[in-house]
Amino acid sequence: MSTTPSRRRRPATDLVHGGTLRSQFNETSEALFLTQGFVYGSAEEAEARFLNLSPGYQYSRFGNPTVTMFEDRMALIEGAEVARATATGMAAVNAALLSRLSAGDHVVAAKALFGSCRYIVEDLCPRFGIACTLVDGADLDQWRAAIRPETRVLFLESPTNPTLEVYDIAAIAEIAHAAGAILVVDNVFATPLFQSPLKLGADVVVYSATKHIDGQGRCLGGVVLCSKAFLEKYLQVFIRQTGPSMSPFNAWVLLKGLETLAVRVERQTRNAALVADALAAHPAVTKVIYPGRADHPQAATIARQMTGGSSLVCFEVAGGKAGAFAVANGLEIIRISNNLGDAKSLITHPSTTTHQRLTPEARAELGITDGMLRLSVGLEDPDDLVEDLIGALDAGRLVAAAE
Ligand SMILES: *Cc1c(COP(=O)(O)O)cnc(C)c1O
Repeated sequence: MSTTPSRRRRPATDLVHGGTLRSQFNETSEALFLTQGFVYGSAEEAEARFLNLSPGYQYSRFGNPTVTMFEDRMALIEGAEVARATATGMAAVNAALLSRLSAGDHVVAAKALFGSCRYIVEDLCPRFGIACTLVDGADLDQWRAAIRPETRVLFLESPTNPTLEVYDIAAIAEIAHAAGAILVVDNVFATPLFQSPLKLGADVVVYSATKHIDGQGRCLGGVVLCSKAFLEKYLQVFIRQTGPSMSPFNAWVLLKGLETLAVRVERQTRNAALVADALAAHPAVTKVIYPGRADHPQAATIARQMTGGSSLVCFEVAGGKAGAFAVANGLEIIRISNNLGDAKSLITHPSTTTHQRLTPEARAELGITDGMLRLSVGLEDPDDLVEDLIGALDAGRLVAAAE
């Protein structure tokens, strides 16, 4: 059983100990309860459990002790009343939005969203009679102008993918609340360590645990963090009855990921800052966007609402798509992949992969150019990463000059 701490603990401690439930064997590491269901001592006990009169588990679609440990640890570090884990980050986004929205409702979302999140608000919601308005997330007037009497949810991610734009969460939460709506924030890029949307006024936070929380490229997972009231009124029954539940095995892997989250994210962010500065100094690089550099367009908002930079760096090279491909293909340590938050450094060419589905006009609107690359910085020695990038950039320039 978990014991209630006698004083408030800091996040790095909660990441290691938070939510731990010990079985009768008093194991050190969290136990993996790889079970679908649970047995009852009597028919009366089963009846009481289904009436919610007796505490305990029934079926792992509704709850499982290993999943509970992951949820409780996440709620502690996020400062949320409750958390619900899901099979993927997209299942978390889908559950947070669709548990709250009904036909006739309206949602306002920032245009710069992870591709599948944009699909949910732009394509899926309208099929079920939920209207959607997309706005430039950095422009508060656009958020205000989009509000309608039937607006129920405002939705954004910050920093955004891939251009690392940062939005004023407190101001947008205020706009939501004035309209009687809620603000849902996808906090993947900031991680729970560098930004606490609930403390800034947001109502619901979602994560893809696939990213930094696992951080070692193994399991998919997601989590929704919210108030008890939101859970009881909207989320609980939606997850229980539609079944996007997290596997206990994945919850166990992700719990072990949380133990090292602070160490990994802090080191990856330090590496990313060094890489960003090295990129900015290279003549083949036409632009670097890094939250943490003084030249970031929203540096003032970052200083106000974030406590750290990012393990991601966005940069643009000369020569458009050919230039970007030459750089990506010239790398030896950094691998080409659409994933992020991993111990391994990964590079993505958004316009031909993650953001390929968007029209060229939509990409232009988001500032996603053909020469743009998104780099997720890992745990390698930063000097090796810088050498790898400089080598690829220099070789790319020679190719461009020869053509
Ligand atoms: C990866 C990601 C998601 C989706 O998560 P999955 O675990 O892949 O389903 C949602 N939002 C953001 C910002 C992401 O990076």
